[in-house]
Amino acid sequence: MAKEFDVVVIGAGPGGYIAAVRAAQLGFSVACVEQWQNPKGELALGGTCLNVGCIPSKALLASSEEFEKVGHHVGQHGIEVSDVRLDLGKMLARKDAIVGKMTKGVEFLFRKNKITWLKGHGRLTGKEGDRILLQVQPAGKDDGAAAAGGEAEAVSARHVIIATGSKARHLPFAAVDNVLVADNEGALAFDSVPRRLTVIGAGVIGLELGSVWRRLGADVTLLEALPTFLGACDQSIAKEALKLFKRQGLKIEMGVRIGEVANGDAKAGAAVVVKYTDANGEAKTIESDRLIVSVGRVPNTDDLGLESIGLKADERGFVPVDEHCATSVPNVWAIGDVVRGPMLAHKAEDEGVMVAELIAGQKPHIDYNCIPWVIYTAPEIAWVGKTEEQLKQEGRAYKAGQFPFMANGRALGKAEADGFVKFIADEKSDEILGVHIIGSGASDLIAEAVVAMEFKAASEDIGRICHPHPSLSEVMREAALAVDKRALNM
Ligand code: FAD
Ligand code: NAD
Repeated sequence: MAKEFDVVVIGAGPGGYIAAVRAAQLGFSVACVEQWQNPKGELALGGTCLNVGCIPSKALLASSEEFEKVGHHVGQHGIEVSDVRLDLGKMLARKDAIVGKMTKGVEFLFRKNKITWLKGHGRLTGKEGDRILLQVQPAGKDDGAAAAGGEAEAVSARHVIIATGSKARHLPFAAVDNVLVADNEGALAFDSVPRRLTVIGAGVIGLELGSVWRRLGADVTLLEALPTFLGACDQSIAKEALKLFKRQGLKIEMGVRIGEVANGDAKAGAAVVVKYTDANGEAKTIESDRLIVSVGRVPNTDDLGLESIGLKADERGFVPVDEHCATSVPNVWAIGDVVRGPMLAHKAEDEGVMVAELIAGQKPHIDYNCIPWVIYTAPEIAWVGKTEEQLKQEGRAYKAGQFPFMANGRALGKAEADGFVKFIADEKSDEILGVHIIGSGASDLIAEAVVAMEFKAASEDIGRICHPHPSLSEVMREAALAVDKRALNM
């Protein structure tokens, strides 16, 4: 006899667990299938984001930033320190403790909202009347019925939400052992600071984790295939970022073609050798102690049984959905990294909420143009809406204004005065079309721009709103005023 639920969510990452919580809040009986095992072999909720993504990477970014500040930057405040030493084990343990706290937090949310955690691998098996059938194959060393290797459990649901997320894309010629050659999982847990670190892919993970290990003492080289640095960013921001990152000591080579990766026995202290062709066509070799491969992520649809209900992943492996995350099969939905759109935790969460509310008959809507992006380097980079390059391509008339953190008292006081904010508004209506930030606190400052764009505000609206003084947020107001060439402090 199959266990019956109103809603079964497959995957408990930020998309899946938030969908489960919202569906439970709306009065449905909800189960969530999750198979993730942490390095201790325990089953854990929270998906990529909490276990090996957003949360541990931001913990290490914060720790390494403190280390660099104390070692190199507090002198300008008149603080003298000597004998600054790194306890990497403690730094990694702090990160792991934060991950544990967060994943246990999701277990608490499940108990609070009476969500059943089905521990194991979820697979769709077919349809029966208006119900969708699934099997859960137990995984992990767990208690009772959920012990690994146990019998699969039959489950049926009125609605299924596929939230199976994504995994690191690997290169066929670079075997990831997560010791010498690491994807995001290994790169968050190196047991020593590599003297020389090569990173293939100068995207978000490459820049964030490359920054972590550089701050801790590694000599970091990023090898990027594309000729343009941070192609999705407004190019004025990308140019500034490249200048600042190079000044920090990151070596970044664009337009390379990786040929071969050779690695020896990690335990014997072997090095990794990467052969590549540079942008001028010259053959080059780089030897390093560790290699990070960060060349994007691929959706998780392995052994998911999509075909049993008449679904098929597209040519890139994504589950095809419409703008409401509905698949072509009634009452089967898919959200987060396993569907089109940016692979971001907050996008997955918003889709989870939207789908739960659609199931409840509500009329939610996501404006994908208002999803913010953040790169947690120092300084941070954040943006929402269109870049100047996109608007030019669309032939849309716009005006732009920008303001530097250098002219802001709070940024100077914090000794974090690099970067600027740029507002872009429609030439005639003044509606804000995009906001781009490189600078201190960008991840928080961008929220004001998201609110403004959701409410279709004009740049003048931001210019007229009182902002606290002295604060970094004044740069937002000044940049908005700069759109009409009336910044006050410049
Ligand atoms: P996931 O978080 O991948 O969760 C999917 C879950 O489904 C997994 O737990 C998996 O075990 C489970 N699952 C898969 N198949 C099955 C199955 N058949 N049965 C049972 N369970 C299954 N995004 C941000 O917005 N901000 C950041 O700062 C950020 N930093 C990142 C840093 C790194 C290093 C990485 C790798 C990613 C980062 N991301 C960040 C991206 C973010 O982690 C993802 O966009 C987000 O986790 C996607 O959520 P999701 O719920 O779709 O999938
Ligand atoms: P990415 O798409 O950001 O960057 C991958 C980079 O690798 C690209 O610049 C690509 O051109 C390059 N590349 C691809 N193949 C290559 C090759 N053979 N040789 C050299 N370069 C190559 O992907 P990522 O950094 O792996 O991150 C994956 C996803 O995780 C991102 O899409 C991002 O949305 C998400 N993420 C988000 C955050 C955040 O929000 N702060 C942080 C980390 C990850």
